Amino acid sequence: MRDNYGRDITYLRLSVTELCNLRCRYCMPEDGICKKKHEEMLTQEEMISAVKAAASLGVKKLRVTGGEPLVKRGIVEMCREMATVEGIREVCLTTNGTLLPQMAKDLHEAGVKRLNISLDTLDEEKYRYITRIGELKDALAGIRAGLEAGFEKIKLNAVLIGGFNDGEIPALANLTREYPVDMRFIEMMPMYDSGDFGPEAFISGDTVLEKLPELKALPPDGSVARLYQLPGALGNIGLINPVSAHFCRECNRLRLTADGKIKPCLHAPAEYSIKGLSEEQMREQFLAAICGKPKWHGELNYESRSQAMRNMNQIGG
Ligand code: SAM
Ligand code: SF4
Repeated sequence: MRDNYGRDITYLRLSVTELCNLRCRYCMPEDGICKKKHEEMLTQEEMISAVKAAASLGVKKLRVTGGEPLVKRGIVEMCREMATVEGIREVCLTTNGTLLPQMAKDLHEAGVKRLNISLDTLDEEKYRYITRIGELKDALAGIRAGLEAGFEKIKLNAVLIGGFNDGEIPALANLTREYPVDMRFIEMMPMYDSGDFGPEAFISGDTVLEKLPELKALPPDGSVARLYQLPGALGNIGLINPVSAHFCRECNRLRLTADGKIKPCLHAPAEYSIKGLSEEQMREQFLAAICGKPKWHGELNYESRSQAMRNMNQIGG
């Protein structure tokens, strides 16, 4: 279905939990999150109904995210059910990868088509620092498990952080030479409470082009990433620049949070609640959200922070 600005809304990002087994500094506070009451969160049945309601309005692609979606109990069965919803052509999942060694095969068999795996650094100490509690070897084992389970076109996502991982851009990009994976660099978005990063940490995607002059531009593939490739590489390099070059004009997404709020725009405060509603009532709320989708999210930079008033783990990225 088209919104008021002619954008065809075909993509839903569903956050199945706010909880996570890591504590990335740009995403959530150190002490985790103030756990909401169980009754405030969507049940699994409500999540499935919401996917059906969204699909009835033209949503074709579903991305399961979080928090960390793989800590959600019953996630494999949920994915299996969502993959069979009429109209849904593709169920994808975004994960920090650390639980993939136990779950990758089951997710693949349940019909999950694609995996995005977050990986900001290849240095053990830095990984521990940025995630506060994570171990690099677990994320790397997850990537291997994803490949072994038969997932194709795995995308690795690194949030660009000046003074932290800009020196690792060539090493991260080189993963596309060694493995059949795409590497995507994402500009860090200034959320309402996303760590104590100073302005110098918010670097633009162009830094990648400066560090890798050998990159060749590729034609767009309909995603929000600008695509490039290293000579002889097996996968692509993608630049996702939500801060320096927002892509609101092409935005085809809705988001649904684990506490049942449809967000028509990642960085705008508007939310439409579906908690406790029937599938038909949810459909009405999705319709209202599509009609209420703003033209763009307004200024987004170090001074003008996101208006979302949620941390990223409470939205899903
Ligand atoms: N836990 C999963 C993971 O880390 O992939 C899924 C949820 S996480 C919120 C989804 C994506 O949002 C991750 O790729 C993460 O790096 C990204 N993200 C989180 N906070 C961000 C921020 N402030 N700016 C840019 N990307 C961010
Ligand atoms: Fe957890 Fe993903 Fe947020 Fe890191 S980015 S804290 S892994 S939800």
